[in-house]
Amino acid sequence: MLHHTPDEISERHALKVNPAKTCQPIGAMYAALGVHGCLPHSHGSQGCCSYHRSHLTRHYKEPVMASTSSFTEGASVFGGGPNLRQSLKTIFQVYNPDIVAVHTTCLSETIGDDLPSIIKSAVEDKTVPEGKHVIHCNTPSYVGSHVTGYSNMAAGIVKCLCEKDETESKRINVIPGFTDPSDMRKIKGMLKEMKADFIMFPDTSGVLDTPQTAEYKMYPDGGAKISDIMRAGGSSLSLCLGKWSSEAAGVELEKKCSVPFRVLDLPIGVLATDRFVEAVSQELGLPVPKSIRDERGKLVDMLTDYQQYLYKKKVAIFGDPDTVIPMTEFLLSAGMMPKHIITGTPGKAFEKRIDSMMKEHGHDYEYNCSNSADLFYLHQLIKKEPVDLLIGNTYGKYIAAEENIPFVRFGFPILDRVGHSHFPKAGYMGGMHFISGVINTLLDKMDRETPEDMTMELVA
Ligand code: SF4
Repeated sequence: MLHHTPDEISERHALKVNPAKTCQPIGAMYAALGVHGCLPHSHGSQGCCSYHRSHLTRHYKEPVMASTSSFTEGASVFGGGPNLRQSLKTIFQVYNPDIVAVHTTCLSETIGDDLPSIIKSAVEDKTVPEGKHVIHCNTPSYVGSHVTGYSNMAAGIVKCLCEKDETESKRINVIPGFTDPSDMRKIKGMLKEMKADFIMFPDTSGVLDTPQTAEYKMYPDGGAKISDIMRAGGSSLSLCLGKWSSEAAGVELEKKCSVPFRVLDLPIGVLATDRFVEAVSQELGLPVPKSIRDERGKLVDMLTDYQQYLYKKKVAIFGDPDTVIPMTEFLLSAGMMPKHIITGTPGKAFEKRIDSMMKEHGHDYEYNCSNSADLFYLHQLIKKEPVDLLIGNTYGKYIAAEENIPFVRFGFPILDRVGHSHFPKAGYMGGMHFISGVINTLLDKMDRETPEDMTMELVA
């Protein structure tokens, strides 16, 4: 399929080939699903909403519910205000959610629909029933990526729901970045083990990783409760786990409710998890329990035991900045050599952060790092400088097949494998699970390619 990718790299500005990102509303829809009893609403045409729902459904392997303003030619010319008002009326009458989270699409952004005014008038004339909530954010897809959309909705949740509370309370807000429900569950698990008082939102665990009970629930049991999100304005600190996806919500919470915030990486790998655990421990004055220290020890032990397979292995990695950054750090601490590191999400801060990370780890080898890049470019880099391993979402499999590179799926979307909703990559245990996948994938290739007369040992 990619036989004709040339290894000669030429300057390219106006064209993306196989982008390493998708569109803003997907992230907004995902963040909205992290609120209990929420129906995400796409203010645009049906096609956008179907695409966003199906993409999320294919990654999480769970049916994703969302409604749409269902624009046709009329709304495209005269504006979608009446469509949104009619939608809200129908949604509350038929589907009865506790909250509707409205995001825009390219079309409604181009028209310039004024969401706050439309929603305000729907609240005033009781189209929105008493006790129900409608929140919103703008997600023009011609800028940013799905990560920007997640960030905009997370900030929208704060803007519309959090309330200022002057009562002194030693409690943290945790705003996880765009990551799987398994990771959110793991982060909550670590906080509970530490006996931390916390509020986490958005939280898609229990929404997109639900058990089969033979009973259909349009609004599953999981998700951050609205009452808890409202109380987040009285916490003593917000930990934003991901600059790109969560910082904006922290900024908004500080502006609105005077809650200070710290931006940390998602706790992926030894060092990022250490920083997360330390931050919680320091802020709340809590000791780190033995169970967490033991998990860390096991991960370090695994990295040490399997150094012969990891050391100096060249890796190409692509995906979202908030997951690629801590994963790159994890690979460095495992003795590997991240060689090509790209994200499709724009932001020069990505390259600066990777550069400083490389310096911190004392690495002086040549590497390529780009924001706003695409998979065509990544393939060209790999053709010029081959790697031992590729890490990224499902779309990397074509490059992996073309170049015969072992491939470990990581990030969003993963459409052709299962497990990511249930087995975390966050926390020390998540690190063990991930690095096992890396080692086993490398060994699979080694086994496949070792000539029969050289296979002296059962184990490599
Ligand atoms: S029109 Fe815009 S919002 Fe809709 S699917 Fe395309 S990029 Fe996404």
